[in-house]
This record gives sequence, structure tokens and C-alpha cells, in this order.
Amino acid sequence: DKLVVLICGGGNGAHVLAGLAASTPGAEARVMTLYADEAERWSKSMETNDFVVSVTNSDGSVEDLKAKPVLITKDPSKAVPGADIIFFTVPAFAHEQYFTAIAPYVSSHTVLVGLPGQAGFEQQCVFILKDKAKQCAIVSFESLPWACRILEFFKHVLIQGKKETLGGSVIMSGCKPIAQPMELVQRILGNKPVVSEIGNYLVINLLAKSVVHPPIMYGKWSKWDGKPFDSKPLFYQGVDELQARLLSGVADEIVATAKAIEKQRPSADMSKVNHVLEWYRVNYADQITDNSSLFMCLKTNKAYDGLVHPMKEVDGKFMPDFKYRYMTEDVPFGIVVMKGIAEIAGVPTPNMDEVMHWCQKQIGKEFIVGSKLCGKDLDSSRAPQRYGYKTIADLFNIG
Ligand code: NAD
Repeated sequence: DKLVVLICGGGNGAHVLAGLAASTPGAEARVMTLYADEAERWSKSMETNDFVVSVTNSDGSVEDLKAKPVLITKDPSKAVPGADIIFFTVPAFAHEQYFTAIAPYVSSHTVLVGLPGQAGFEQQCVFILKDKAKQCAIVSFESLPWACRILEFFKHVLIQGKKETLGGSVIMSGCKPIAQPMELVQRILGNKPVVSEIGNYLVINLLAKSVVHPPIMYGKWSKWDGKPFDSKPLFYQGVDELQARLLSGVADEIVATAKAIEKQRPSADMSKVNHVLEWYRVNYADQITDNSSLFMCLKTNKAYDGLVHPMKEVDGKFMPDFKYRYMTEDVPFGIVVMKGIAEIAGVPTPNMDEVMHWCQKQIGKEFIVGSKLCGKDLDSSRAPQRYGYKTIADLFNIG
């Protein structure tokens, strides 16, 4: 029997995954993209073009994989029936739309994979799919497996580099998939990155790296005098010590949350939740020249060369863009979710609160009031409170 793989999305990551799944022996790849006319354009392109994934190997050589998905559609009634595994490879704000679209058609024992999931993926999935979610496996990865970008839309995508390893969580109470979820994902991704199961889904939520952006935005812009810039300031390498200390404070609160959860529920392994400084030291070991502090890690990370603040051009000068995904995505689907978990664990988060108060104002939302997540716009975030979770036990009874 064929392994039927459905990829939801139409961007960089979805292009790569479509090519990898199509070239997996014994697999059939389908794509569903609900965005604009992507499905139509991609289908049309497949009538006359090859579909190529260029893979950059670690020695710098490039290999081409050529294989086409069999179906590209925006119609869930065509895409979903019979799918054994469904990947969601879109920015977090688009997950809701995909969960809603697949809900009537998804069958039990399907493996649902957030690649990446981003904070709150699992809660939102269960909230929308209801009892169906309990018969499926919900898998969520901490990041995309590759650095990648589309060279030619619906024709050619480049993998610039692959991660060595990738952690994910699996919620699987009543699901009997055709193979173990991690095994299925590995079969499709090939030999790199090596995927492995990490603790539980809360670990993946607390590890989400989206947490880095809001504190840096707040640190840089909260005391800004409103004058335009002549050029775009550096994002990571431009931090000052105060901003680095703030980010470090947020990371301390995340680690404290993991410890508090473990204390209240000793069977939960939260040990993989580490401080962002440790994460930099391990993941960017060859790129950082001075790893003595978080401030120096950010300043001396070569992977961050040239990465600038999101800015809009106004009359030849530059103004900060507070509608960029570092704010509109990484606040409601990042730091707000982490704050929500911290609140349930009973951990005070003065650093997160300070960042959130400023960020929510910039994006015209109210998530937090004082130090409590009870703002009027909480429902447009993925905070666990928004789905009715109140206790640590609720968080663990998700599947
Ligand atoms: P992308 O930016 O290419 O995604 C764009 C796609 O998202 C569009 O093609 C469309 O299909 C969908 N989309 C955009 N706007 C939409 C809307 N309003 N409604 C519905 N759908 C819409 O994303 P990507 O590069 O594939 O990355 C996927 C995720 O992985 C993101 O969260 C990203 O931050 C993360 N990530 C990407 C990389 C990378 O190298 N590309 C690396 C690490 C992490």
C-alpha cells in the first residue's frame, strides 16, 4: 500500500516537503494550499515543468531531486481523504484555517505534523478537530528541518542547509498509525536531520525560538524617539546589554516554568527546556566567536551577519515595521503561549509581562492585563487559557 502524504502550505518549506515526499519510495505526495491562487498556479506549472529540489550537501556540493506531487489543490475534499500523514508547513497564523478545512475529511489514525508547530499548535488542533484529534497523532517539531528558499515558484526550491537533529513531541492516545510517527517523518526527510522525540509537547512549546524576537523589538523600540533611520539597524548583532539582559530574563522565566511543571508533575520530563544562552552555545557552536554571555553570542554570531530590523521605507528613510511577523506572529503564537503555561504553573514572569505590554499595544491587541492573561483579545492568541486549560493536569490531559 502507498503511503499517502499531504502537505499543507505553498511557501518555501512546503515546496521542499512536496519534493521530498514525492521522491520517497512507496509514497504519494499531495499538496493543499488555501492561499490565493497558489494551488491553481502550482498545478498549471506541473503540466509543463519539472519539480526540482536542489539539496546543498555539507561539503557544498548540490544534488537535484526531481519528483512531482500527484495532486495540488485547494479543495480539502480531494486532498484529505486517504491521507496517512498530513504536514502543516505554514506560518502559525494560518494553522487555524487548515485545521478547519481538514476537519470534515480527516480519518482516524492519521498523523498530523506541525513542521514547525510553533507554540500552541497542539491545543489549537484539539480545539478545532475535537474528538477526531483524539484518534489522530499530533506531532510538533521545534523548527523547520532546513534553511530553504524558493528559486522559482512552483518549479524549483533550494535547501541551503539541513539541521543535524530535530526534536519533536508526539501526542498519541487512541491512534494506531500505519507506522510510528517519527519513523514516518524520517522516511520522508531522508537521513538528515535525525528526528527524535523530546519529552512532551509542553517542552516543544517552551523551546519555540519565536521568543527571541519580541524582547529584542521591545528593547530596541520602546524608548525610540520616533525619528526615521538612514539605514536599517542590525537586529541581533545590534542589541545592547540591556536588551540581552531582558531576553535572558525571559529565558530564565521559561526555565523556571519547566522546573515548576516538573515539581508539580514529577513524571513529566522537562529537562530539555534549556536557557536560550545554552541553545546558542550548542546550536551555533561554529558560528559564534565569543560565547561568554548571551550579549556576546548575539553580537558575534556569523549566522546573523546582515540580518536587520523589519523596517518600512518612508521618503527614502526607514521606520520600524511593527506589523512584521516578529510581532504579529511571535507574540500571539509565541510569548503569550509561554506566559499562559507559566501562569498555570504559578511562575511569576515580570520580564515577559513588560515585553508583552509594549508589544500588544503596537499590534493593537490586549492579551495581558496587569500580570494576568485575561485581555479581551486572548481568543486571537493560542494561550492555553483561551482553550479552557486551567491546571497542569488539564495541560497533560490534552490527548
Ligand atoms: P513562507 O514564508 O514561505 O510561507 C509563505 C506561505 O504561507 C505562502 O506561500 C502561503 O502558502 C502561506 N500564507 C501566507 N500568507 C497567508 C495567508 N494570509 N493566509 C493563508 N496562508 C498564507 O514560510 P516558510 O519559509 O515555508 O516557513 C514555514 C515556517 O517555518 C515559518 O513559521 C517560518 O518562520 C519557519 N522557518 C522557516 C525557515 C526557512 O528557511 N524558510 C527556517 C526556519 C523556520
